[in-house]
Amino acid sequence: ATNAQIIDGKAFAAKIRSKVAEHVSRIKAESGITPGLAVVLVGEDPASQVYVRSKGKQTVEVGMASFEHKLDANTSEKDLLALVDKLNKDPSVHGILVQLPLPDHLNSDLVINSIDPAKDVDGFHISNVGLLATGQKAMVPCTPLGCLLLLRDLHGSLSGKNAVVIGRSNIVGKPMAQLLLGDSCTVTIAHSRTKDLPEVVRRAEIVVAAVGRPEMVKGDWIAPGATVIDVGINRIERDGKQVLVGDVDFDGAAAQAGAITPVPGGVGPMTIACLLANTVTACCRANGLAEPE
Ligand code: NDP
Repeated sequence: ATNAQIIDGKAFAAKIRSKVAEHVSRIKAESGITPGLAVVLVGEDPASQVYVRSKGKQTVEVGMASFEHKLDANTSEKDLLALVDKLNKDPSVHGILVQLPLPDHLNSDLVINSIDPAKDVDGFHISNVGLLATGQKAMVPCTPLGCLLLLRDLHGSLSGKNAVVIGRSNIVGKPMAQLLLGDSCTVTIAHSRTKDLPEVVRRAEIVVAAVGRPEMVKGDWIAPGATVIDVGINRIERDGKQVLVGDVDFDGAAAQAGAITPVPGGVGPMTIACLLANTVTACCRANGLAEPE
């Protein structure tokens, strides 16, 4: 039996996109500037190609300029850094995103840290990581930001809540923990060496699962009434069909939780919506225009 409220990330993301579109037209009207997002894809990773295509499409749909740079899989680091440098200097580009993962011969840290932090709309540059960690105005990574917005929408204040983040990656787990801490949650970060994970998760009023393991988090790990945010996107085969599942056993968890995000249609759509919002923010900051709240 499903008792939980199903969190509609798709609808919430659409709302964010329409607000972004309003800001874009205001910016154009007030300053003649069109916010622009450059996305760099190296190689032909199929999942990355899908993400880059949706990013480009949604960028154009909200009225922004989209610049796509598709480079060969064996592009040299020097050439990639030269492209990033060109985009850093281009005033029509307000946001730069280098799609990860990069091919093995390229040093992602080096490439990401060569992006102008003011244009780093993914929020992965060490300056933005440091700003977030110290509670200063940063570009915030899109997926955790999307999760935070869903949680705030649901709960209002998150102050004092026990939150457990499963996963400690630089792109999801760690920034998610920083954001929850920033909203005054009591935060536990769990990972592959955590002892008795089910017991740790049972203490949580908020669970964010970012593990990359299909349906690993079971229903009986979830405290009654807890909010479950499932970041996982796993393609698996079920009954001879390719299906998308999260890191949480949805049916099991929905029987316990107060609210839960579905996969797909939960966190996924929020990521690109937040990317667009970050690009508008970057454009406003670069041009001394009023920032969206
Ligand atoms: P990573 O593989 O970088 O990190 C996974 C984390 O999970 C690691 O910290 C790892 O611990 C931890 N982990 C792995 N196995 C276990 C276990 N058995 N018990 C407890 N913890 C474990 O993944 P990402 O953070 O990049 O992504 C996580 C998931 O989110 C993936 O499914 C990915 O597809 C999805 N994703 C979705 C996005 C969206 O837009 N919705 C965007 C980005 C990612 P340790 O550090 O100890 O190895």
